Amino acid sequence: MAMPTRAERSRVVTVDGRSLRVLVSEPLARYTTFRIGGPADFLVRASDRATLESALIWAEREGLPVTVIGGGSNLLVRDGGIRGLVIVFRAPGESVGELATAAQDDGSVLVTLPATAPLSWVGHWASEHGLAGMEWAAGLPGVVGGAVVNNAGAHGGEIGHVIVDLELYDLPSRRLVRWTREQLAPRYRMTALKALSQPRSLVVLGARLRLLRDDPARLLAFAEEHARWRRMHQPTGPCAGSVFTNPPGTYAGYLIEQAGLKGFRIGQMAVSERHANFFVNLGGATAREALALIEAVQERVAERFGIVLQPEIEIIGES
Ligand SMILES: Cc1cc2nc3c(=O)[nH]c(=O)nc-3n(C[C@H](O)[C@H](O)[C@H](O)COP(=O)(O)OP(=O)(O)OC[C@H]3O[C@@H](n4cnc5c(N)ncnc54)[C@H](O)[C@@H]3O)c2cc1C
Repeated sequence: MAMPTRAERSRVVTVDGRSLRVLVSEPLARYTTFRIGGPADFLVRASDRATLESALIWAEREGLPVTVIGGGSNLLVRDGGIRGLVIVFRAPGESVGELATAAQDDGSVLVTLPATAPLSWVGHWASEHGLAGMEWAAGLPGVVGGAVVNNAGAHGGEIGHVIVDLELYDLPSRRLVRWTREQLAPRYRMTALKALSQPRSLVVLGARLRLLRDDPARLLAFAEEHARWRRMHQPTGPCAGSVFTNPPGTYAGYLIEQAGLKGFRIGQMAVSERHANFFVNLGGATAREALALIEAVQERVAERFGIVLQPEIEIIGES
């Protein structure tokens, strides 16, 4: 029997007079950079706040738990997928348009970003406008919402350094709330939001950053150099960035490489030859294979160096 097409698996529901397209039993592999992940019971693609709100209201009406993802570039979704509604909250950079800015007396500028804005686009936009603090983000996948949760960073910079505050939607109270940087408590690839277990009750709607005035030519040169470095040193196939956080004083990639694991493979999942802390999906890999590879690498590195590597990627969904 032929598999139902996506059109056959989608339905349109009406929420407060607005139409909302809901995909049923939608494979999450389509929304993660690993190209891995079982089905979401229901999935809505939202690129603006109004669609997000309609989806949240619909989920509440149907009694469904809600998981919000952005670029899916820091996620390993298990093969059983995710129960309830998954909202993919992201938008193309061009649709974000000019960002709201407010100049401050101390030479800094407050920039208000929507959670849907692609991180790489933000890196280029800020550099072009002579605003320093986000140039490290050029070439990084994902969107602002996911970067805030993970406290993404590279080349010595991180989003937590420049966050002033966040606008969030609190699902249980259905109210907008504001979190200061102190409440987010950003540290190395971790925040108070990431520490909450999924499905979380808070959705990031936007972030305010404090950026410093600088020379656009200098910032653009940095941004381009960072993006070029990525193209040269990181794999291009389906992956999810660094699998493990760096242990204090050393690098996870170095330990994996020294343990002789470059190219080591389980099923269709392999340790990248280019960067040992990146695992690549060689085509059709499952989460089960990815998890087996993670475990095997942890064991071999622990045997050799006595260090247990901790995942940086977030593992969610049902097995
Ligand atoms: C090739 C490659 C290179 C990478 N290099 C780096 C790097 O140098 N540095 C680095 O830090 N990371 C890196 N990453 C990982 C990743 O790109 C970043 O962590 C990115 O910021 C994650 O954003 P995302 O939108 O993809 O988040 P997702 O993976 O979609 O989600 C991450 C988390 O955020 C939550 N989330 C997403 N949006 C929202 C929202 N609006 N409200 C509430 N919760 C939300 C999700 O539920 C999940 O918990 C890399 C990934 C790849 C594929």
